[in-house]
Amino acid sequence: MSNQVSLFVKCPHCDKSFMDAENPINGEPSIRINIVTASERGVLRLCSLYGCYEHESDIVLNDKEIVTIYCPHCNKSLMREEKCELCEAPMVGMNIKVGGRVNICSRNGCRNHYVAFNDIAGALNKFYHQYGFSG
Ligand SMILES: [Zn+2]
Ligand SMILES: [Zn+2]
Repeated sequence: MSNQVSLFVKCPHCDKSFMDAENPINGEPSIRINIVTASERGVLRLCSLYGCYEHESDIVLNDKEIVTIYCPHCNKSLMREEKCELCEAPMVGMNIKVGGRVNICSRNGCRNHYVAFNDIAGALNKFYHQYGFSG
Protein backbone atom coordinates (compact mmCIF):
# COMPACT_ATOMS: atom_id res chain seq x y z
CA MET A 1 0.00 0.00 0.00
CA SER A 2 1.37 3.39 -0.93
CA ASN A 3 2.28 5.64 1.94
CA GLN A 4 1.00 8.58 -0.07
CA VAL A 5 -2.60 7.67 0.68
CA SER A 6 -4.40 10.61 2.23
CA LEU A 7 -6.74 9.50 4.99
CA PHE A 8 -10.07 11.25 5.37
CA VAL A 9 -11.00 10.74 8.99
CA LYS A 10 -14.03 11.55 11.08
CA CYS A 11 -15.27 11.38 14.64
CA PRO A 12 -16.28 7.91 15.90
CA HIS A 13 -18.93 9.59 18.09
CA CYS A 14 -20.65 12.29 16.01
CA ASP A 15 -19.47 11.21 12.53
CA LYS A 16 -18.33 14.73 11.56
CA SER A 17 -15.22 15.18 9.47
CA PHE A 18 -11.88 16.25 10.95
CA MET A 19 -10.57 17.37 7.58
CA ASP A 20 -9.50 20.99 7.32
CA ALA A 21 -9.10 21.94 3.66
CA GLU A 22 -8.33 25.56 4.51
CA ASN A 23 -5.13 24.63 6.35
CA PRO A 24 -3.45 21.98 4.21
CA ILE A 25 -0.23 20.19 5.14
CA ASN A 26 1.82 18.81 2.24
CA GLY A 27 -0.92 19.92 -0.14
CA GLU A 28 -3.58 17.74 1.47
CA PRO A 29 -6.33 18.78 3.88
CA SER A 30 -5.01 18.51 7.42
CA ILE A 31 -6.69 16.57 10.22
CA ARG A 32 -7.83 19.09 12.83
CA ILE A 33 -8.48 17.90 16.38
CA ASN A 34 -8.52 19.50 19.83
CA ILE A 35 -5.62 18.77 22.12
CA VAL A 36 -5.22 19.08 25.88
CA THR A 37 -1.87 18.87 27.66
CA ALA A 38 -1.12 19.04 31.38
CA SER A 39 -1.08 22.83 31.21
CA GLU A 40 -2.82 24.02 28.05
CA ARG A 41 -5.47 23.32 25.48
CA GLY A 42 -5.21 24.04 21.80
CA VAL A 43 -5.59 22.76 18.28
CA LEU A 44 -3.51 20.06 16.66
CA ARG A 45 -3.26 19.58 12.91
CA LEU A 46 -1.92 16.34 11.54
CA CYS A 47 -0.77 15.61 8.01
CA SER A 48 -3.40 13.32 6.48
CA LEU A 49 -0.89 11.34 4.41
CA TYR A 50 -0.58 7.92 5.96
CA GLY A 51 2.97 7.37 7.16
CA CYS A 52 3.70 11.09 7.46
CA TYR A 53 4.32 12.42 10.97
CA GLU A 54 4.22 16.12 10.28
CA HIS A 55 1.98 18.10 12.55
CA GLU A 56 1.37 21.64 13.75
CA SER A 57 -0.04 22.91 17.00
CA ASP A 58 -0.87 26.31 18.40
CA ILE A 59 0.46 25.27 21.83
CA VAL A 60 3.85 23.96 22.91
CA LEU A 61 4.06 20.18 23.12
CA ASN A 62 6.79 18.81 25.32
CA ASP A 63 8.79 15.92 23.99
CA LYS A 64 7.36 12.58 25.18
CA GLU A 65 4.34 14.26 26.77
CA ILE A 66 1.08 12.31 26.64
CA VAL A 67 -1.76 14.46 25.32
CA THR A 68 -5.52 14.00 25.36
CA ILE A 69 -7.38 14.41 22.08
CA TYR A 70 -10.98 15.56 21.69
CA CYS A 71 -13.36 15.93 18.78
CA PRO A 72 -13.63 19.64 17.82
CA HIS A 73 -17.34 19.14 17.03
CA CYS A 74 -18.84 17.10 19.89
CA ASN A 75 -15.93 17.47 22.33
CA LYS A 76 -15.90 13.79 23.19
CA SER A 77 -12.61 12.09 23.94
CA LEU A 78 -10.97 10.12 21.14
CA MET A 79 -8.81 8.19 23.61
CA ARG A 80 -9.08 4.41 23.49
CA GLU A 81 -8.52 1.73 26.10
CA GLU A 82 -5.88 0.28 23.85
CA LYS A 83 -2.25 1.00 24.79
CA CYS A 84 0.60 1.81 22.42
CA GLU A 85 2.71 -1.28 21.92
CA LEU A 86 5.87 0.85 21.78
CA CYS A 87 5.46 3.15 24.78
CA GLU A 88 2.23 2.09 26.55
CA ALA A 89 0.56 5.48 26.24
CA PRO A 90 -3.17 5.36 25.37
CA MET A 91 -3.97 5.25 21.67
CA VAL A 92 -6.17 7.81 19.92
CA GLY A 93 -8.78 6.40 17.53
CA MET A 94 -10.37 8.08 14.51
CA ASN A 95 -12.72 6.56 11.96
CA ILE A 96 -11.72 6.54 8.29
CA LYS A 97 -14.39 7.79 5.89
CA VAL A 98 -14.14 4.77 3.59
CA GLY A 99 -14.22 2.34 6.52
CA GLY A 100 -11.89 1.16 9.22
CA ARG A 101 -10.00 3.11 11.80
CA VAL A 102 -6.69 4.85 12.23
CA ASN A 103 -4.98 4.71 15.61
CA ILE A 104 -2.23 7.05 16.67
CA CYS A 105 -0.18 7.13 19.85
CA SER A 106 -1.04 9.98 22.24
CA ARG A 107 2.60 10.48 23.26
CA ASN A 108 4.24 13.38 21.46
CA GLY A 109 7.23 12.06 19.54
CA CYS A 110 6.09 8.41 19.45
CA ARG A 111 5.68 7.32 15.85
CA ASN A 112 3.29 4.47 16.39
CA HIS A 113 0.28 4.84 14.18
CA TYR A 114 -1.49 2.22 12.25
CA VAL A 115 -4.63 1.65 10.27
CA ALA A 116 -7.08 -1.05 11.27
CA PHE A 117 -9.57 -2.13 8.64
CA ASN A 118 -12.54 -4.31 9.36
CA ASP A 119 -12.59 -5.22 5.71
CA ILE A 120 -9.15 -4.57 4.29
CA ALA A 121 -9.86 -5.69 0.72
CA GLY A 122 -12.99 -3.59 0.48
CA ALA A 123 -11.28 -0.57 2.01
CA LEU A 124 -8.28 -0.82 -0.32
CA ASN A 125 -10.58 -1.09 -3.31
CA LYS A 126 -12.23 2.13 -2.25
CA PHE A 127 -8.84 3.81 -1.87
CA TYR A 128 -7.80 2.71 -5.34
CA HIS A 129 -11.11 3.80 -6.75
CA GLN A 130 -11.05 7.15 -5.00
CA TYR A 131 -7.47 8.03 -5.92
CA GLY A 132 -7.24 6.30 -9.27
CA PHE A 133 -4.22 4.20 -8.40
CA SER A 134 -3.23 1.81 -11.12
CA GLY A 135 -1.38 -0.48 -8.73
ZN1 LIG B 1 -17.44 14.23 17.47
ZN1 LIG C 1 3.62 5.25 21.70
